[in-house]
Amino acid sequence: MPKLLLDRFGRMHDYLRISVTDRCNLRCVYCMPEDGMEFEPDEKLLTFDEITEIVRVLAGLGVRKLRLTGGEPLVRKNLEQLIGRLSQIPGIEDIALTTNGIYFASRAEKLRAAGLTRVNISLDSLRADRFSLITRGGDIRRVLASIEEAYRVGITPIKLNVVLMKGINDDEIADFLQMTIDRPIQVRFIEYMPIGHQDEDWKKRYLSLTTVLDRCKEMGWEATASNAVYGNGPAQNFRIEGALGSFGLIHPISDHFCETCNRLRLTADGNIKPCLYWSDEFNVRKYIGDDAAVEDLFFRALDIKPQNHEMAQALMNEEQSHTPTIRRMSQIGG
Ligand code: SAM
Ligand code: SF4
Repeated sequence: MPKLLLDRFGRMHDYLRISVTDRCNLRCVYCMPEDGMEFEPDEKLLTFDEITEIVRVLAGLGVRKLRLTGGEPLVRKNLEQLIGRLSQIPGIEDIALTTNGIYFASRAEKLRAAGLTRVNISLDSLRADRFSLITRGGDIRRVLASIEEAYRVGITPIKLNVVLMKGINDDEIADFLQMTIDRPIQVRFIEYMPIGHQDEDWKKRYLSLTTVLDRCKEMGWEATASNAVYGNGPAQNFRIEGALGSFGLIHPISDHFCETCNRLRLTADGNIKPCLYWSDEFNVRKYIGDDAAVEDLFFRALDIKPQNHEMAQALMNEEQSHTPTIRRMSQIGG
């Protein structure tokens, strides 16, 4: 019987999110400060050889799904090479990418040929001027072109990640929902999380995703729960009657989904993070090459994985049982 990545609460971990860089070509307001981010020097980043070795060991422990993220994963040179190598590892069935879509269109074909199976594109506004404000300078035309290119080369189903922020883009909920009616796309609304910053601005901008269902009703759209969307992880899924696409709600704060958490995270500088929110980390780099030691470190990380994060407590200014991470989302990968 092979060893499996089970934690103290019986949760089976078959999904690894790999951040390949902490750098990014954008500066989204909810993710990174405008100035002053310090980035890891290249020599601190795991090499493609090292990432491949770690995944090989984890595939032996039941990991089947990978997601490459960052920072912006497409600023890491030759990402296609890494995908090609990961896709050759026996047991790996699914390699997805989360990207801001700025550099995706020109590389979609090569990424697919290398073995990319799915893509999530982040797009928080459908209005060019607002998109530029949220991302501090991004050009929405490039993201829209990336969505079209993903369809063209057949990396489907396509998912759009939309972080909802009160007073910033919550007036576009109906526009995003309309998009799911018109196109075979999945829009995933995500609650704004206090990762690396639990400040007043976060509390002011945070919006519970029940708002999405309310908006749907106001528009007279009938949405039914559906679980038919592949690879959804924590999203609760719905389809509007007659729609070509669907929408998902990822509400870590108003309704945390920790009891079904199946994911582990690996930061670009080689730290295993058992939980997105807490500060605990285990650096795996020095163990690479010794499979038993790598396995052992992952089991140690799983052993301290908490039952749930406590972002809701942060919102209510209540005491928390662990120390929240000081990493920004760009330094973890979402
Ligand atoms: N750069 C890529 C992108 O933007 O898609 C990948 C990395 S980004 C950190 C991964 C996801 O995290 C994105 O969908 C982004 O919108 C989301 N994200 C970043 N900061 C967040 C926050 N504070 N709360 C909720 N989601 C956040
Ligand atoms: Fe960059 Fe993605 Fe963070 Fe935006 S959300 S700053 S694109 S890492």
